[in-house]
Amino acid sequence: MTFGYFKGIFKKQEDVKSLFFVMNVSELARKLRINSAELLEILPELGFDVGKKAIKVDEKVAGKILDLGNKIRDRIEAKKKEQQEEIKKTIPAVAEATEKREIKIPAVITVKNFALTIDKPVNEVIKSLMKNGVLASLNERIDFDTASIIADEMGLKLSLSEEEIIGESGMERIKGILQKEEKSNLKLRAPIVVVMGHVDHGKTKLLDTIRKTNVVEGEAGGITQHIGAYQVKKKGQLITFIDTPGHEAFTAMRSRGARVADIAILVVAANDSVKPQTLEAIKIIQQAKIPMIVAINKIDLPDANIEKVKKDLSSLNLIPEDWGGKTICLPISAKNNLGIDELLEAIVLVSELEKDKIVANPDTLASGTIIEAHLDKGEGAVATLLVQNGTLKVGDNLCIEQKFYGKVRALKDYRSQDINEAGPAMPVKIIGFKLTPKVGDIVEVSCQIERKNKKFSSHEILRGEGLITKVNKAEKEDEEEGVKKLNLIIKTDVLGSLEVISETLEKIESGEVKANIISQGLGNINDSDVDLANSSKALILGFHVKATASAEDLAREKNVEIKFYDIVYNLFDEVKARLSAMLSPELVRKELGKATVVAIFKTENKFMIIGGKVISGKVVKGAKADVLRNKQLIISGEISELQSAKENVTEVAAGQEFGLKFSGKSEIKVGDILLAYQEEKIIKKL
Ligand code: GDP
Repeated sequence: MTFGYFKGIFKKQEDVKSLFFVMNVSELARKLRINSAELLEILPELGFDVGKKAIKVDEKVAGKILDLGNKIRDRIEAKKKEQQEEIKKTIPAVAEATEKREIKIPAVITVKNFALTIDKPVNEVIKSLMKNGVLASLNERIDFDTASIIADEMGLKLSLSEEEIIGESGMERIKGILQKEEKSNLKLRAPIVVVMGHVDHGKTKLLDTIRKTNVVEGEAGGITQHIGAYQVKKKGQLITFIDTPGHEAFTAMRSRGARVADIAILVVAANDSVKPQTLEAIKIIQQAKIPMIVAINKIDLPDANIEKVKKDLSSLNLIPEDWGGKTICLPISAKNNLGIDELLEAIVLVSELEKDKIVANPDTLASGTIIEAHLDKGEGAVATLLVQNGTLKVGDNLCIEQKFYGKVRALKDYRSQDINEAGPAMPVKIIGFKLTPKVGDIVEVSCQIERKNKKFSSHEILRGEGLITKVNKAEKEDEEEGVKKLNLIIKTDVLGSLEVISETLEKIESGEVKANIISQGLGNINDSDVDLANSSKALILGFHVKATASAEDLAREKNVEIKFYDIVYNLFDEVKARLSAMLSPELVRKELGKATVVAIFKTENKFMIIGGKVISGKVVKGAKADVLRNKQLIISGEISELQSAKENVTEVAAGQEFGLKFSGKSEIKVGDILLAYQEEKIIKKL
């Protein structure tokens, strides 16, 4: 056999070896930078006897196909153009037909209204939500993404109502901005990659390894700083990595409808295989409709079992390429820097296949999503923006939901270097926010800021969304509008529960008390959770998780309370009970009786001895009393002693005369009316 076909195409001996007998169509397509379906469609037209559902082809055919690479790509391009022309001609009819089948809903809708809109029983909708890990009652609001999943299951198609497409928050807003761009202004940008997977499977390690080995350090030797994302260059192509470990950033943004990533890397440890958070990550990636690359990590370990991972993935319908499926699975060791180059190359290839979607207009005002935000002692409110369209420049006005949030004073890249501007797909630390934005907020630069917007009302500042001078979050929250806060740290086993729990708890509010989640995450409760709870006087709630032995010891030593739950409603009840106990009791006035003053026996500075007669009800020793004259309240005081027929008594009934000591201002006159009452404390409940 000849290897001539492969010269110049494959660098490595293994690549050639893998072609010795057969080659997967998907792998072949990837090497040609097209997708498998397109390849299989075009092959018969070029005279190849390959079926439309073929999985593998023999080495001779593969070689011939690779030789025809350019021709195949040109043919596919030409075919796409033809199809587009065809679609253009029929578009009015298609649009009309689709319109009829689609149900339009707003970006956020209550469960009840959603059920009404799609004409399904509310119970069915709630059940379907629960099946998908969302606990929502009748009047709770769900976002478009969640509604879409439910609708999808019911065989319905949803779309956002017109006004939402233009005016709503979240990714739809960015999409709206991009849709308004002239096609000719859209240029390729770096793909944005998110790393997901089960806890401890090596997400952080992988991100660290990629950063250490691929980030070009600044000329001045700038040290890379964690700003929530960084960029690396592979084969001349920039790639942006969101490097917030775990799901947090991705989830926070997803829950606000913003999906910033173009490609997801699913990390699965070869010694542990598919775990609950792997399943969740797969679900999130599939919902986000972005391509996935599986990195089978920790292959350096003796108990690594790559085949088991592939088997488990296959059972989830993610068939690896070398098993005849479409899922790209790459064995790696983040620890030993094995397979990382191949992983980056795969990202470049996948992003080329997705290149129609990975575009933005660099020559316009910037818009993008906040991926990290905090208050810094020295710098004030600091946030990282992932620019998604346009270019952000020093001096730009920053707006969130059409409200002025500050002006860009300085921009720093992930190497901590000062820069003057940041284009699409670039993460950039912004200094200059007056209010701290939230992760997931969509920032838009606007040149027209109305003056009235420039000033924040004291209410806004008090809401503590970004009071720059106050750094300690817990301290700041305590002072917020007199609202008493119950500080909480929440740890759960899976993301779905974490989302449901935190969203539900954040909604428990009475105006007087509030659950304040200062930290949340996945996995067992550890020492740093206890330390944080200790410093912020927080209660730790664990759902389906345990505490590490040292965290338990530390909690005992520091007197930090940890509560564990298996039933989510018990957790909610506990928080409600604690918040209820924090409510100040309500004072309810209970009228006792009415009397008229008939004599003044003694007038001292702070009390008077008076005689009177009960008109109705009763007068009681120890009760409070209002003194009325001409129906006007003159003073209030207390009945500290009471006598009837010269005997000390506790109460005097209607029709009887009495003498009493009134403690209060000495302003009572004969003829005044005494209203005796008691105040009862009622314990409020949430
Ligand atoms: P994350 O929770 O998914 O972010 O996991 P980490 O990146 O924190 O990794 C969890 C543990 O696995 C750490 O102790 C890492 O050092 C270790 N780890 C990560 N990648 C590898 C690997 O490729 N090989 C081995 N042997 N250990 C790894």
